[in-house]
Amino acid sequence: MAKPQISKPLDSEDVNVLKIEVSPNEDLHITLESSLNYGYCRRCGQKLTKFHGDDAWVKVQHLPILGRAVFLHYRAKRYECPDCDGKPTTSPQLAWHEPNCPPSTAYDEYLLRCLINSSVQDVSTKERLGDEAVEGVLERCLARQVDWTRYRRLGVACVKVGCILTFTPRSSNSGSSFLA
Ligand SMILES: [Zn+2]
Repeated sequence: MAKPQISKPLDSEDVNVLKIEVSPNEDLHITLESSLNYGYCRRCGQKLTKFHGDDAWVKVQHLPILGRAVFLHYRAKRYECPDCDGKPTTSPQLAWHEPNCPPSTAYDEYLLRCLINSSVQDVSTKERLGDEAVEGVLERCLARQVDWTRYRRLGVACVKVGCILTFTPRSSNSGSSFLA
């Protein structure tokens, strides 16, 4: 009798799954292609439909499935602008992955949640990632979500468990700081 199986849509929009492979160490490797057949020119902003070519293969870590690490493999499509000087090419913005980012957007957000009440080393150990990979999540997500102009002073306080950042809001007259 066949083993029971579950089927759930991949949490990534606008993609076609081309291949799924299991590596000897049980990691899942999913090869995808974007189903979007257009992009927008990075100079003039017009919609582009003239296909120029594929970029190099990219490997992206995604949310784990049943405890197995999952890696997505894809090639970004490039579209050519017929009107701008030099006919520049642009690849479409993907909802599930930012260019040059090792994890998918969903895995980035998952790792950020894991960091709540946990250290970089805790998350690095539990997720079997290097410290640098987890620090990268903080750099990307804090840069996106914190409006640094709202703070007039940034400091570092050393306590028993390590160093923590202190922020002083611009609206504060007392000079008091809070910790994050
Ligand atoms: Zn253009």
